Amino acid sequence: MITLKEALKLDKNGIKELRENLAKKIVEKKTLGAYIEQLTNEEINTNGDGIPIAVKDNIQVKGWSVTCASKILQGYVAPYDATVITNMAKANLSAFGRTNMDEFAMGSTTATSFYGRTLNPADNERVPGGSSGGSAAAVAGGIAIAALGSDTGGSIRQPAAFCGCVGLKPTYGKVSRYGLTAFSSSLDQIGPIAQNVEDAAILFDIIAGYESKDSTSANIAHKPTAPKLNPNRKLKIAVIENFLNEASEEIQKAMKEAVCALKSAGHEIIYKNMLNSKYDVATYYVIATAEASANLSRFDGVRYGRRVESENLKEMYVKTRSEGFGDEVKRRILLGTFVLSSGYYDAYYIQAQRARHLIKENYENIFKEADLIFSPVTPTAAFKFGAISNPLEMYLSDIYTIGVNLAGVPAISVPIGQSGGLPVGGQLIAKHYNEQTLLDGAFSLETILKGK
Ligand code: GLN
Repeated sequence: MITLKEALKLDKNGIKELRENLAKKIVEKKTLGAYIEQLTNEEINTNGDGIPIAVKDNIQVKGWSVTCASKILQGYVAPYDATVITNMAKANLSAFGRTNMDEFAMGSTTATSFYGRTLNPADNERVPGGSSGGSAAAVAGGIAIAALGSDTGGSIRQPAAFCGCVGLKPTYGKVSRYGLTAFSSSLDQIGPIAQNVEDAAILFDIIAGYESKDSTSANIAHKPTAPKLNPNRKLKIAVIENFLNEASEEIQKAMKEAVCALKSAGHEIIYKNMLNSKYDVATYYVIATAEASANLSRFDGVRYGRRVESENLKEMYVKTRSEGFGDEVKRRILLGTFVLSSGYYDAYYIQAQRARHLIKENYENIFKEADLIFSPVTPTAAFKFGAISNPLEMYLSDIYTIGVNLAGVPAISVPIGQSGGLPVGGQLIAKHYNEQTLLDGAFSLETILKGK
């Protein structure tokens, strides 16, 4: 598959040919389930005729369905473009197909989609990760040049690691959330999933920047990162020892090799410990579910999508929501409502806000000494469908990624090796707004590993 960098050099006819070829390929690889809705040859120009970029099904493209892989949003059509879509149009990039995801971006497998599951292109018996599993599988499966995903607790980085692509979660506030269906508003960020670091930087530059329609957008001019990418910059990198030691053997092996490669390329390695990741998990699942319970209250059968007709209003709400939401979404709405209820608010929600502050400080302290942090993305490589059925066990698959969202810092997942034919990813993390350093480090890592 050609890269985004190469595609940007194509003329009008070249882009047309690319779109047609891609549309054909997507049909051929339908069993992968990467897309919820793919574009037919007649439809491929519906969102402009620019370079095709796959878009996660929680990002609005005017005139297209947007379902968040949920039954409750069936039939809902987006009335406006998300800012990322408008920004892409300015660079001659167009949305091309809606990619599959976990329902409302809650999950780590893409198996909670109402529209069926997505397979991991590296091994079809295994999950592609989630919640942006469709975007990652499309890129890794050669049926997208690059894709947009969203990351609330790891949903760009974890599927990128499981499928063997590059996934970037920008600093909170760097990319406008206008037009992204909110899951947890203080954690959500849109970011690129790409074939390599340079493409991730290019797509990030295109979608990033201040935008007044999102009150959490950072009012800082974006300095493009891709033209300045420098793999030769020498950086001080902190390896998180306690995270590394609790990962599976296969991940530890790939991480240790990557650390050696970084050292041999002239980067300085130091070792640090972070707060036990159990605090990240507990804090995240209080804050994310609290915000989700409020955000998802808008799906009531009146304003969006599907409605179950009933005798009276209350019954209509109850039936619409009972039938429209899947189990994981319901579990989170219940949990979030509970932690926000008057009797428990102080004990859980306020306590989680305090813990979030400590987690952020933990990152800031390490960044006093290091330019970047290096940690695994996931504790294991991609697991088989059905291998984890307990929700609490499933929540542990995010232990290395969710702290990043709680702190609001940027992070990237880069392929660092293989284990039994399955991709393994490494995660680099930088200070707020320091995407340039993050991408320089990631580019360096990618370049050294490619040359090995
Ligand atoms: N797997 C995490 C969750 O289920 C992360 C989801 C995300 O980043 N959207 O909440």
